[in-house]
Amino acid sequence: STGLMNGKRGLVMGVANNRSIAWGIAKALAEQGAEIALTYQGDALKKRVEPLAAELGAFVAGHCDVADSASIDAVFEGLEARWGKLDFLVHAIGFSDKDELTGRYVDTSEGNFTKTMLISVYSFTAVAQRAEKLMTDGGSMLTLTYYGAEKVMPHYNVMGVAKAALEASVRYLAVDLGKQKIRVNAISAGPIKTLAASGIGDFRYILKWNEYNAPLKRTVTIDEVGQSALYLLSDMSTAVTGEVHHVDSGYHTVGMKAVDAPDI
Ligand code: NAD
Repeated sequence: STGLMNGKRGLVMGVANNRSIAWGIAKALAEQGAEIALTYQGDALKKRVEPLAAELGAFVAGHCDVADSASIDAVFEGLEARWGKLDFLVHAIGFSDKDELTGRYVDTSEGNFTKTMLISVYSFTAVAQRAEKLMTDGGSMLTLTYYGAEKVMPHYNVMGVAKAALEASVRYLAVDLGKQKIRVNAISAGPIKTLAASGIGDFRYILKWNEYNAPLKRTVTIDEVGQSALYLLSDMSTAVTGEVHHVDSGYHTVGMKAVDAPDI
């Protein structure tokens, strides 16, 4: 470790288990000396997150359901009491009804559209509002997005529409918070087999397609997303804000199926 994050404190939201992208990021940050707080969503995940937090010496900031603003407030009150200030924030949260992550986008229901937007888009702004108040020496905020925001991907449907809105909110937040030296960025990660991803139809096919057609001819790991997050959350990127950075083995640069890609 080169201690890139020594003296920095931050909140990482979205650890469900040791396959979560948030976990890959938390590990990379802790390894570089960051002090970390984790939240969990509900009692079922509490049992998973507590031992993971112990592995990193992280503070468990409690339950947070981003659809419940009182639970967000409780977490930030806890952080203010414990640390007084915050240097970074990681938002690795998304949700949509599994039944609508297959079939046609046009069939999306109003109820799921609204819930998907609340949990996957507005929640980043909601936590940014609270984090802003604690980032008194500036800071860095990061969210996670996917290529389905830019191009139509099979089964991604309403989640693609939500990610497009999330990416736009990164830019608006970057402008609003720039004066306070708070940077706001997103990582657009290639597909990774996580709990959330298992809700997406034909996910194995999507993984294979990326492996055969990405310039690097492979998918990405949560540890690689973690290393890239380290750059965006550390002082290595003090002039970078409003950016959507692809960590996808270069997949987003490709315009067509590779000529040597096997049929799947
Ligand atoms: P994951 O299932 O490990 O993490 C998703 C997290 O969202 C969980 O910790 C879950 O508790 C949390 N969450 C859902 N609803 C919530 C709510 N109401 N309140 C609080 N937390 C809530 O899966 P992941 O793939 O690590 O997902 C993290 C982020 O990365 C998501 O935004 C996802 O869209 C994004 N992403 C994932 C991939 C992929 O292929 N796995 C690719 C690009 C972007």
